[in-house]
Formats: sequence, C-alpha cells, structure tokens
Amino acid sequence: MDLKIELTKLVHLQELDLEIYKLKNEKENEIPEQLKQLQSQLEKEKQKVVSFEQNLKALQVKRKDKEIDLASKEEAIKKAQTQLYQLKTNKEYQAKLAEIASIKADISVLEEEVLKILDDIEKEEKKYNEEKEKFLKEEKKIKDEQDKLKEKIKEIDNKILQLTQQRQAKIKEIDLDILAKYEKLLNTRQGIAMAAVDIENENCKVCNMRVTAQKINEIKMYKELILCENCVRILYIHEDLTAQ
Ligand SMILES: [Zn+2]
Repeated sequence: MDLKIELTKLVHLQELDLEIYKLKNEKENEIPEQLKQLQSQLEKEKQKVVSFEQNLKALQVKRKDKEIDLASKEEAIKKAQTQLYQLKTNKEYQAKLAEIASIKADISVLEEEVLKILDDIEKEEKKYNEEKEKFLKEEKKIKDEQDKLKEKIKEIDNKILQLTQQRQAKIKEIDLDILAKYEKLLNTRQGIAMAAVDIENENCKVCNMRVTAQKINEIKMYKELILCENCVRILYIHEDLTAQ
C-alpha cells in the first residue's frame, strides 16, 4: 500500500464528505430552524388579528348588554305609565311621575352609551379588517417561504443520495484500516478529518496551530498517518500529493 496514494484518495473523499456534511447540516439544523422562525412569526401575526377580534367581540357584548338594559327600562316605563292611571292619591301620582322621569333619564344616558359603543365598533371593525388583510398577505408570504424550504429539503435529499452513491464507489478503492480511522475522525470533528499543512508557515491549515519540522518529516516519510497534535486531524502535504 502506498500511503501517499491513500492520502490522495482521502483528500478527494474529504471534499465529497464535507459537501455531504454541509448539506446534512443545512437539512437537519439550518432549515428546521428557519421553518421554526417562520412558524413563530406566523403565530405572532395571527395573535395580532386575534387580539383585534377579541376587542371587537368585547364591544359587541357590551352593546348587547346595554340594549338589554335599555329594553328593560322601556318595559319599566310602560308598566309605570299603566300604573299611573290606577293611582288613588295625588302624592302617589306625583311619585310615579318622578319615577317615570328618572327612568327616562336613565334611558337617555343608555342611548348615548349605545351610540358611543356603535361608534367604537365601527372604528374597531375597520382596524380589524385592515389587520386581517395585512395578516392574510403576510400569511401567504410566510407559507410560500415555508414551501420553498420544504422543496429545498427534497433537493438536498436528492443531492445527498447522489453524493452518497459517489462516495460508495470511492471508498471501495481505499484501504480499510485507513478508511476506518478517517471515518472515525470525520464523525467526531464537524465533518473535517483531513488537515493540509502550510509548509511555509509550518501550520495546520484547519486549526492554525504549529506543525513541527519533525512532524513534517514524519508525514513526508509516508509510513503512517500523522495527526495534528492540536485538532487531531490527518495531516497531509498538498504539494506532495498533487506532485505525484
Ligand atoms: Zn490542526
């Protein structure tokens, strides 16, 4: 087995795996998060409409109460007016008249209140209708965005499937032990198992920490896989690989 050739294959596999990793991350984390945010935005917009609706309903209940009140006062006046003719003394008669006047005053106040409520209802209805129209537009926009994201998930699934098939073909060519080590690192290091060495600066290009000349020599011997001491990824020298 030529380790340099295996490393070259791993670098190519890494390109594919990183792409798969990013797509999976987008599908499993980024898109669900965006969907969640859109959903909560939708709920918030909906809540605004609901609160206008509740204001309106409260006013309608208030109106109904006042109207019931008004009807009962009108009933009371009728009753008092029939009683008026059955009264024996002038004193009783005067008292009944005073009672009628007092009820009439109440009615007049109630009528004013009903008018005021009707006015409020009209204003509130206008606000509610405006808010609802705004909401329906917003809802459509949000649902369109959600649909787009769900469509994107399907596209990502297809892409992942394609890349996975390519991957299956590639890994058949790689030494099993080396592949196992690579995959173990891949799964524990955010989808990046390979780290190129910056020869000039003697750095690991992934974590930017120093790679000693000694380590570089070990890599160049191509006897075994050499890991970055800091980020624990498989080190390779790009110039070596492309040169062969
Ligand atoms: Zn490193």
